[in-house]
Order: sequence, then structure tokens, then C-alpha cells
Amino acid sequence: MSGAGILVTGGAGFIGSHYVRRLLGDPDLGDVRVTVLDLLTYAGNRANLADVEADPRFGFVHGDICDAAVVDRIVAAHDTVVHFAAESHVDRSIDRSDTFVRTNVLGTHTLLEAARRHHGEDAVFVHISTDEVYGSIARGSWPETDPVRPNSPYSAAKASSDLLALSYHRTHGMDVRVTRCSNNYGPYQFPEKVIPLFVTNLLDGRPVPLYGDGGNRRDWLHVGDHVDAVELVRRKGRPGEVYNIGGGTELSNLELTELLLDACGAGWEMVRRVADRKGHDRRYSVDCRKIAEELGYRPRRDFGTGLRATVDWYREHRGWWEPLRGQPC
Ligand code: NAD
Repeated sequence: MSGAGILVTGGAGFIGSHYVRRLLGDPDLGDVRVTVLDLLTYAGNRANLADVEADPRFGFVHGDICDAAVVDRIVAAHDTVVHFAAESHVDRSIDRSDTFVRTNVLGTHTLLEAARRHHGEDAVFVHISTDEVYGSIARGSWPETDPVRPNSPYSAAKASSDLLALSYHRTHGMDVRVTRCSNNYGPYQFPEKVIPLFVTNLLDGRPVPLYGDGGNRRDWLHVGDHVDAVELVRRKGRPGEVYNIGGGTELSNLELTELLLDACGAGWEMVRRVADRKGHDRRYSVDCRKIAEELGYRPRRDFGTGLRATVDWYREHRGWWEPLRGQPC
């Protein structure tokens, strides 16, 4: 069975589920076999995969990437791994970081070891990292050659897994490719992250919590553009290379809040200023020239259009997000 399938870890999460739909909807990949390995933590949701469940090319395994026996069995049957599974929410990593170290570091190591044992230099391992591994930058943008300087337990655990993955290329000759993407938005994002949190609160007439002075700046990319970039890296990227991915839409949280209030027909009276996140990175900015020049990548979705479509999606899919909602702020 080796070689025939793609193993997608974390495929029941936000970005992973978009990637699975992207693979199975691609006319060039008519005979692709896609297996999702997902623990279905609070962030994983089988409903995210409803569109593909009936596809005979799709398989789902409910399991933990830290479980060496499960990982060994599944990786043996897949020489390509696209690795999204992670604990992904910075605020949760500040409150409690043990699961971040376990899943992001040990889980990634368990997958890498299984891939090395079963497929050696034939293993293809696309590791989904994040721009947050670089730390915070006041001006300019990070090229891939900049060192990682993570600041939160989340980004430190992601940086550890990113470096572990690259070490398996240098040490064992595995075909490892790493992507470091900026903030994603779009349908199926768990309503704890800023865009779906604000949108679902506003749709319910509840206030939204704005951290500190609202001056923290992020680059935004539609999730559909992210998974297109991941697929390009899987097909055409070079072994051992890191590729930054960004959207070119940099906004302060104040600017983003203004757009979200406007899209939801609400005013600033709905905003509650809350104490800043501990150690809050001020600004992220990736230099995306490498993936553009080497692989011809450009994001295709306009931010304003994508944001309005995302707000509409949450408006039309209450049945998806209402059961996932936490306490009001
Ligand atoms: P998410 O939290 O929505 O999904 C994570 C998925 O991983 C869930 O389905 C969860 O059940 C699964 N998972 C968690 N622990 C697991 C374990 N031990 N074993 C198996 N499955 C497990 O995350 P997301 O926003 O879709 O992010 C996916 C990846 O992309 C992460 O690696 C994240 O660091 C990276 N990333 C995210 C963003 C973003 O803006 N969301 C940006 C850049 C990179």
C-alpha cells in the first residue's frame, strides 16, 4: 500500500479539513487516497468533514499522534504525511501548556520516527508550522533564513516541532518540507479565535473582548489560499526547505475589529477592552518572496470579499457553531 495515500493529521480541525476537501476535490488527483488521523479534541469536529465522508477515497482514524502503536500502523501504509495536528490556541497555552508540549513536540516526533522507520528517504513529510515561531518584529519581514525566537508556549512548542522535522531531513535524509503561515480565517474555524469569536458574539448581540490597546498587528490569509499553498509545497517544494506563506493583508486588531463590527452591523459600544494577553507578540510579518519566486504562489482571495463571505458563512451555519460556544466574555 506504500506510496498510494496521503495521511493528513489533524484533518478534522479548521485548516486540515479544508486541505482534505482541497485534495479530494482536485480533478488532477482522481485516484488519491486520503486518510485523516485525528484525536477529535475540543477543536476537532467530524462535522467539518461531512462533505467528504461518503467519498470511497476517504478514510478516518480516531487516534492520537502520540500513540506510537497507532501511528506506526497508519504511517506504514502512507509514505506522505501532511501534518496539521496540534494544540493551536495561544491563550490556552498560557493557561496550561502540557498538552502543547505533548502533542506538538512528542506527537510530531512520533510521526517522524514512524515515517523514518517505514519509508526512510522515500518519506515525504510536510510539516505545517506557523509564522509565530519567528517571534515578534517591529519593522520589516522575516525571510525563512531568520532564526526562530518564539515567545509563547504555543509558538515554542511549534518551533520545537518545526526544528525536529528539519533535523530528520538533515540527519536521516527524509524529504521534509516546512510551511510557516500567517493568521488564517474562513469557515469552520473554532469560535475561540478572534474572527469567529467576534463574529459569533456579534451575531448573538454579545460584546467582544479586545486585548490591550488593540495595536497588535497580524497578516491575514484566507484558509483556501493557505491550503492551496500547502498543496503546492507538497507537489513542487524542495526537500529540506522552509516556505513562508502570507496574505499581504496586515491589520491592527483595532482595524480588524472595525471591519468585523461593520460586517455584522454593530458599533463600538459592543467592544469591551480587556487586559492584554501575557507576552503578547506585537507584530508578525513574513517575507513571502521565496514561495512566489520559486513556486509561483500568489494568494487569490481578496481580504474584504473573503471576510464578508466568512461572516455570511457563520450567519448561515449557526447549527455548526452554537454547540461549540464557550461562556460569554
Ligand atoms: P485546530 O485547532 O482547528 O485543529 C487541530 C486539529 O488537530 C483538531 O482536529 C484536533 O482534534 C487535532 N489534534 C489535536 N491534538 C491531537 C493529537 N494529539 N492527535 C491527533 N489529532 C490531534 O488548528 P488549525 O487552526 O486548523 O491549525 C492547524 C495547523 O496549522 C496547526 O499545526 C497550527 O499550528 C498551524 N497554523 C495555524 C494557523 C491559524 O491561523 N489557524 C496559522 C498558521 C499555522
